Amino acid sequence: MASAPRFLLASARHAAAQTTPKRALVPSTFTARRGNATAVDPLRAKPWTRQEVQEVYDTPLMELIFRAASVHRLNHPPEQVQLCTLLNIKTGGCSEDCSYCAQSSKHADKVGLKAEKLTDVETVLVEARKAKANGSTRFCMGAAWRDMSGRKRGFERILKMVEGVRALDMEVCTTLGMLTPEQAAQLKKAGLTAYNHNLDTSREYYPKVITTRKFDERLDTIEAVRQAGISVCSGGIIGLGENDGDRVGLIWEMSQLPEPPESFPVNALVAIPGTPLEKNERVTIQELLRTIATARIVLPTSIIRFAAGRISYTEPEQALAFMAGANAIFTGERMLTTPTSGWDEDHAMLGRWGLQGMASFESTTVRMKEGQAALEATEERKAAAAAEATA
Ligand code: SF4
Repeated sequence: MASAPRFLLASARHAAAQTTPKRALVPSTFTARRGNATAVDPLRAKPWTRQEVQEVYDTPLMELIFRAASVHRLNHPPEQVQLCTLLNIKTGGCSEDCSYCAQSSKHADKVGLKAEKLTDVETVLVEARKAKANGSTRFCMGAAWRDMSGRKRGFERILKMVEGVRALDMEVCTTLGMLTPEQAAQLKKAGLTAYNHNLDTSREYYPKVITTRKFDERLDTIEAVRQAGISVCSGGIIGLGENDGDRVGLIWEMSQLPEPPESFPVNALVAIPGTPLEKNERVTIQELLRTIATARIVLPTSIIRFAAGRISYTEPEQALAFMAGANAIFTGERMLTTPTSGWDEDHAMLGRWGLQGMASFESTTVRMKEGQAALEATEERKAAAAAEATA
């Protein structure tokens, strides 16, 4: 286990200093040229066009990173990187056919992954406490399901998990497949901070990756989450065989939502033997940086999570990703079915680059989405949990 996470104290300083931005802040002037392309005015009074996002993506790389770093500094404490832990609470046996995923039942024979039942509540809470003790401030739970239909008892168990993690004063996120508005409302009531539902890639490339769920069904779930007052976590995977235009399409699609996602995970494909994408090559560091930097500029207030595949990049490459605007990582023992670096290693890495963790609910966008009532309910849950522990 790591030593006491000093950043939990240090980050209070930033919480005090942080003001609530009325709007996303971006530098007032910026011009970059590549061929005939001229970067757009970044003070956004109107929605991004896809062409404008493409022009940002095509900016010469060092200029792009500089601009993204400038946007980042105007909207986030630049030294903060949130540590998140993602636990698989129901492994394998999923009826979807996502071509990158080890947990799809369509690839089960070749991958050799055995389906398991939903984990029990106490096991999950043990893992959450461990994550918190090691400095993670967001705890995410993933279940390999298409949706929650016919899973009433399982859903009730998940509501208890959400309540329990929230009582630890951690941000709590779930990814359970498609949700109805009623299920989203129940999750919000249980204390859910965020719901993850990735769009994965551009609308055009999407059917090449998944055929069992439509792109618009994903947007419906995001809308249900939004309507319930839950923060939206939605991003994508790069390295699926898509091109630059598809990465631009994914980011542009996020910018067209009624509200941008509070959280945008960028996953670099981990090519898992037995899946249809097993032979895909890892995306280059330049493609990764362009994606992160463009997302930072187009989605200035979102937390950008450098998620799966991070450990296949060197430490200096990861540092460049932080410079380009990434401000969250997944750490711990595993990330769903893929490996990740551990807490000790990540604390040491962040320290070497002058970075530190982020406290739970420190992000302004998350706090605003939570609302006062939810934050007060958290205090009540914490008090009840403390009273139970001392009884
Ligand atoms: S829905 Fe999720 S768990 Fe199921 S195959 Fe797709 S990525 Fe895997």
